[in-house]
Amino acid sequence: MTSADVEASEHVWSEEPIPVSVDDLSEDTWSLLRDEALRAMSQAYAPYSSYPVGAAALVDDGRIVSGANIENASFGVTLCAECSLVSDLFMSGGGRLVAFDCVDGKGATLAPCGRCRQLLFEHGGNDMVLNMPNGRVPMSVVLPEAFGPAHLRVEAQTEGSGSHSAAKH
Ligand SMILES: [Zn+2]
Repeated sequence: MTSADVEASEHVWSEEPIPVSVDDLSEDTWSLLRDEALRAMSQAYAPYSSYPVGAAALVDDGRIVSGANIENASFGVTLCAECSLVSDLFMSGGGRLVAFDCVDGKGATLAPCGRCRQLLFEHGGNDMVLNMPNGRVPMSVVLPEAFGPAHLRVEAQTEGSGSHSAAKH
């Protein structure tokens, strides 16, 4: 473990919550996210692909959450790094994602797969900023016109309006 690891851990776990938004993103923040993504990548379980991935994100209370890909002999059960990152988000207190970074085994910037764009959108919305291979962009660019929780709320309201009142048991 390097001193940078210790600093990152202290930053994540020992400071009081400080609300942050996309307006607060600095180069220092992106640097911290990259360090954490690299650390997470070193924890990946990728015996089948030999393609470790690490991801890190800033939460709106100032926490940093992270994840790594966790493969499985039944390939369809494999978890992307974003999956364990979102698990870390909830297990460490919930909140909204503000900024996201992801690296491969060589430390190069990775784009989230299609499924994970949907996964991240649910917990960061259109405004969260992602570090993509060609630069930093909001989720509204990474996943345009996204389907999300708001659509289900509309569905629920429609159902409550009586259009399905003919269904009886
Ligand atoms: Zn994915």
